[in-house]
Amino acid sequence: MVPAMIHTIPVGFTNCFLIKQKGVILIDTGVPNKAGTIKKYFKKAGIDIKETSLIIHTHGHWDHIGNTQIFVKETGVKTALHQFEKSCLEDGTILIPPGVTRWGRFLGYFSRLTSGRVKIKTVKVDISIDDKGFDLSEYGIEGKVVYTPGHSSGSVSVVLDSGEAFVGDMAMNGFPFRKGPGLPVFAEDLPLLRKSWQKLIETGVKTVFPSHGKPFSIEKIKV
Ligand SMILES: [Zn+2]
Ligand SMILES: [Zn+2]
Repeated sequence: MVPAMIHTIPVGFTNCFLIKQKGVILIDTGVPNKAGTIKKYFKKAGIDIKETSLIIHTHGHWDHIGNTQIFVKETGVKTALHQFEKSCLEDGTILIPPGVTRWGRFLGYFSRLTSGRVKIKTVKVDISIDDKGFDLSEYGIEGKVVYTPGHSSGSVSVVLDSGEAFVGDMAMNGFPFRKGPGLPVFAEDLPLLRKSWQKLIETGVKTVFPSHGKPFSIEKIKV
């Protein structure tokens, strides 16, 4: 197969990723009310939005699922989210994970104050991801979805056979979360998150694409 083309789409403070190989998939849809931003990037990339066969959510936090309903309504695209966090998209449940650093706890305090105002447009999840993850070849992508809990219990990563990993909030790289690449400032279970990193390292990942901040080498995580 031809190498995958990776387009980063910043949607609010969250990166979403448009991946085109034989097929087209979208990873996350960012903060709510920004569908227009995503559509603009599809246009810029010369990809018809209707070609998208699957939206994979790295997890159910509100800043990753905000525009999914609009795309489902307009194109009938299928959606995938881990079974533990389906209610975020299906019922609009807002989850805020605890801060694991002093700065994370400080930011968490403010997100709790503001998240009451966030409204998620709800839609059904077609693929309930479980611990086994799934292969993406039927969507025309050489890669797989790997279950990587820790930031939240329903966190997954998309790993391409060519070595790129889209890890959601398993890592953060930059303002307002961190100064450089590394572990997230919010996590439900940090020891479990470290185990998930080990799992990704063993799959041969080379480059990490976090949802918040720029991509970086897996070597930064190994040290
Ligand atoms: Zn998150
Ligand atoms: Zn996030």
